[in-house]
Amino acid sequence: MSMQTKFLLDESQMPRFWYNIQADLPKPAPAVLHPGTLQPVGPDDLAPLFPMTLIQQEVSLEREIEIPEPVRDVFRLWRPSPLMRAHRLEKALGTPAKIYYKYEGVSPAGSHKPNTAVPQAFYNKEAGVKRLVTETGAGQWGTSLAFAGSLYGLQVEVYQVRVSYDQKPYRRAVMETYGARCVASPSNETVYGRSVLSKNPNHPGSLGIAISEAVELAVQRDDTKYALGSVLNHVLLHQTIVGQEAMEQMKMADAWPDVVIGCAGGGSNFAGISFPFIGHALRGGEKSRIVAAEPAACPSLTRGKYAYDFGDTGHMTPLSKMHTLGSSFTPPGFHAGGLRYHGMAPLVSHCKELGLLEAVAFNQVECFEAGVLFARNEGIVPAPESNHAVRAAIVEALRCKREGKAENILFCLSGHGHFDMASYQKFFAGELSDESYDDKELAMALAGLPSVAESA
Ligand SMILES: *Cc1c(COP(=O)(O)O)cnc(C)c1O
Repeated sequence: MSMQTKFLLDESQMPRFWYNIQADLPKPAPAVLHPGTLQPVGPDDLAPLFPMTLIQQEVSLEREIEIPEPVRDVFRLWRPSPLMRAHRLEKALGTPAKIYYKYEGVSPAGSHKPNTAVPQAFYNKEAGVKRLVTETGAGQWGTSLAFAGSLYGLQVEVYQVRVSYDQKPYRRAVMETYGARCVASPSNETVYGRSVLSKNPNHPGSLGIAISEAVELAVQRDDTKYALGSVLNHVLLHQTIVGQEAMEQMKMADAWPDVVIGCAGGGSNFAGISFPFIGHALRGGEKSRIVAAEPAACPSLTRGKYAYDFGDTGHMTPLSKMHTLGSSFTPPGFHAGGLRYHGMAPLVSHCKELGLLEAVAFNQVECFEAGVLFARNEGIVPAPESNHAVRAAIVEALRCKREGKAENILFCLSGHGHFDMASYQKFFAGELSDESYDDKELAMALAGLPSVAESA
């Protein structure tokens, strides 16, 4: 019996194209609407925020979009990333299932996020942009954009959610090492930030607020654009390099996945690992079950409403149809900060509506238990976000054990947890509890959804 553990591609086998699922969907995703006119937004509406190449990618229906050669050159620093077989975890679980994971923690930032930060910085540089403004929660996205900005000589400003800014000083130090400037959000530097602070000077901040601040700054200056690390179609597109590589590596392992799993916050690593497999099935190929794992404390896919909503709390963004908890919803402060967003990527939401994927929600304690079991058998300490995918893979492996099935399980290990060790310490000290959201607040946030007459 083979104990082969690593399935590696060489640089020459790195994908040359991103996969655009919009080409294969049986029904197109609902249009993004202008919040004033409620008409579909055009490229000109988005031009203050993004360079035209990214806007074109956002709406493209072409199946394959070429990855620029200079971007592939940067990717060579860590791509293709390894696919691993979790032999020891399988043994510990006593499962007949084979568990594979695609490891994205090998990037300079320690997660999948540079897969989109690098092309976004590249296209902005090409368009003559000098400064990029963005938001970050736990700090992974800010770190990734700071890294990418440093490669292209772009000034990067990161509005970091106040609680994370205070609790994760090392993330900030990494961003500053790459030359970025970090500002705690809500801040005094924007009209919106000042309005939030005037109501609550100790506001802990949220991703939705930080997005509003970054967008406000981006629209003010011609040399400044905005960058988003998840949710948008072009971000999901850039992450499909993950699933395309994994597909080749699963072929090397002679193990087509019966189940494909990703954790889902805004939906980008989940789409990255799963969209190429969904597309393969839509074009008549083998079908896999596709499972999104989200936090029970911020359950947009499993408990949210599929409706038009704003992407931010200050209501400056266009309206997208997505699974949402309401843009005014502030998720409780659980430890997978990268998953604390009120909405889900519109393309992931649309696929869920089409029945192309399933969603499950887990509490944080059971996710840390899964992460610790994984670390003690496979050696890698997963990011708290990734622990949701680990948990889902373990649940599937135990189902296989009960059913006596030797299925192939593939999941995306989206990042390592080296900057999140304070939350592991809390877990070991028994100080982590299962945070749940406030039902009343959720009901209020959902009641406040913008009203959009549904024509489609
Ligand atoms: C940001 C982040 C996530 C959540 O973002 P998605 O867009 O849902 O992928 C998950 N895992 C890690 C390690 C992250 O940094």
